[in-house]
Amino acid sequence: MSILLCQSVLVLPTLENYLPALVDRLESFHTKGLPEGQDLVFTFPFGRAIVRPDPERFVMRAEAADAERLRRIKEILAVAVQLYARADKPDITWAGDLADDTTLSNFRLMHVDYAQQITPHMRRVRLVGADLKRFGEFGGLHIRMFFPTVAVREPVWPIAGANGLPFWPDEARKPPARVYTIRQLDAGAGTMDVDFVVHGPSGGEDAPDQCIGSNWALSAQQGDAVGILGPLGRPIANAKTYIMGCDETGLPALSRILERLPTDAVGTATIEVAERSDEQVLVAPKGIAVNWIHRNGVAAGDHAALAETLCATPWPSGGECYGWFAAEAEAAKRVRDHWRGTLQLGRDETLAAGYWKRGSAATMAA
Ligand SMILES: Cc1cc2nc3c(=O)[nH]c(=O)nc-3n(C[C@H](O)[C@H](O)[C@H](O)COP(=O)(O)OP(=O)(O)OC[C@H]3O[C@@H](n4cnc5c(N)ncnc54)[C@H](O)[C@@H]3O)c2cc1C
Repeated sequence: MSILLCQSVLVLPTLENYLPALVDRLESFHTKGLPEGQDLVFTFPFGRAIVRPDPERFVMRAEAADAERLRRIKEILAVAVQLYARADKPDITWAGDLADDTTLSNFRLMHVDYAQQITPHMRRVRLVGADLKRFGEFGGLHIRMFFPTVAVREPVWPIAGANGLPFWPDEARKPPARVYTIRQLDAGAGTMDVDFVVHGPSGGEDAPDQCIGSNWALSAQQGDAVGILGPLGRPIANAKTYIMGCDETGLPALSRILERLPTDAVGTATIEVAERSDEQVLVAPKGIAVNWIHRNGVAAGDHAALAETLCATPWPSGGECYGWFAAEAEAAKRVRDHWRGTLQLGRDETLAAGYWKRGSAATMAA
């Protein structure tokens, strides 16, 4: 089998300040950076990323069996470097296979098929589009969605920049983004469902940059266009026991995770929703105890019971347990501090993510 190879060489004078963070990010995709000569080699199910951590000549290489996988490895490397090496202003250009590739393979222009209310606070939008196979690959469950708005009625859509990452030809017409989860994907049929929590404050004329995702879902009509980039996010590690929790923003992701767990998986899933009528029927292994918490009038983000339940759940001794949590940022911090700080668990054993932040728009959308 022939392997596609490409590389980018950078000068990163302050590399030592952020090398551990960069390595940590690459390792968060459930891999380990193994030394090979002067290099660190990260092996993913879909290829290899190799970095030579030399500030004068930082070499990053991508290796994969086909173009789509090579683009994914390039993306993982370029995003990590852009994120941590900002102070060094790296100018990433690639040489080797697909060097002149201008395909932005992680972008699709989708259209609304229909929207329906599935519970009082959750609206499902079915999107249709072409060539969706990659959105079921690479272990990521999420997408960045770009919404046409009153302010940006006719958006431009991204193309690939020289670094392989999205480039917007006209920043003024770049539509605002929010992060959502692919609740269900049928690549064969060309459909994708996204479940939107519909929440206030309502945005509108006084705050046009607020609640763009929620408002878009509420008014979505057949044929409406929306751009998506992805898939985003890290894969869920394999374990025997799972300790999981989320509020309604994490429910689409948790539902997908539960559907895919091995039938002999055991553990708990604690889910906070506004009220009983917001519960959903979940498909989960018999050994996973599903426990619903209702806020019953308490504002989202104000209810402490979810984080308290997760922190009070005993962590089994003997390993092979995975902790997953997604909710408001403060609750996620509490659970992360408990798992990583108090229990001293590793990054490969837990993932506690803030999916939204009280009083702040567009969490993780940039
Ligand atoms: C990886 C990931 C996956 C996600 N998946 C989903 C998903 O599948 N479905 C989903 O609905 N959300 C999901 N979210 C959360 C979603 O991105 C945020 O809730 C986002 O802020 C919603 O955008 P908005 O335009 O409606 O509100 P924004 O404009 O971002 O926020 C406006 C105001 O509303 C508040 N707010 C935002 N979200 C909520 C909420 N849920 N409840 C109450 N107040 C809120 C904010 O604090 C702010 O004050 C995900 C987030 C991440 C990071």
